[in-house]
Amino acid sequence: MKILFLGPPGAGKGTQADMVARKLGIPQISTGAILREAMKAGTPVGLDAKSYVDSGLLVPDDVMIALVRERLTEPDCTRGFILDGFPRTLEQAKILDGFCKLDLVIDLVISDEAIVHRLTGRRVCADCGATYHIDRLTSDTCLKCSGALIIRQDDAPETVLNRLEVYHRQTAPLETYYTQMDLLREVDGALSLEDGFTAIDSILRTAGE
Ligand code: AMP
Repeated sequence: MKILFLGPPGAGKGTQADMVARKLGIPQISTGAILREAMKAGTPVGLDAKSYVDSGLLVPDDVMIALVRERLTEPDCTRGFILDGFPRTLEQAKILDGFCKLDLVIDLVISDEAIVHRLTGRRVCADCGATYHIDRLTSDTCLKCSGALIIRQDDAPETVLNRLEVYHRQTAPLETYYTQMDLLREVDGALSLEDGFTAIDSILRTAGE
């Protein structure tokens, strides 16, 4: 199955996409994670992307399309994949449609207030990328690998507001686009992880019938 997770930053796309990817045995392709890896490794794509990512702006469409087009040719994608964070503009969606037909779009719907609370309180392990929220932190270091917990540069309050504005202006129109294609299914992004996963799982079962 070829699935896209849509929703504002912090809606839980990454976590839910990871859980669904494990369950279905298909790769999760997170363009944000790919860019952060490239930035850490200092590759040309990473160096080009850094100023956009750090300020919460979108990396240009041609860069993102080339990156995803190449990733989708890798052998692990033959049985399907989960896209998380791409497409994020109508242009990206239309071009993707030209070389790959999605089967399902899961839209995580959540208020801006909830997003701001989630993202500004998010802490990320500098070593393994595990995420936590300060409301539930029980340790100063990562529970999985003892790495240092840091604030992602783009989770700073001004940048979060910027990312939300970018989402509403550039990405939200995809909801209409995929509704018109009858691919979109909405899930409440404010649900707990478990309840969100149960809701998604039942959508997947119906889609697979
Ligand atoms: P994310 O982890 O999905 O929130 O992505 C982090 C950042 O990476 C975004 O704020 C953008 O700067 C960049 N990014 C990720 N995916 C895309 C995309 N499809 N198009 C443009 N920029 C992207």
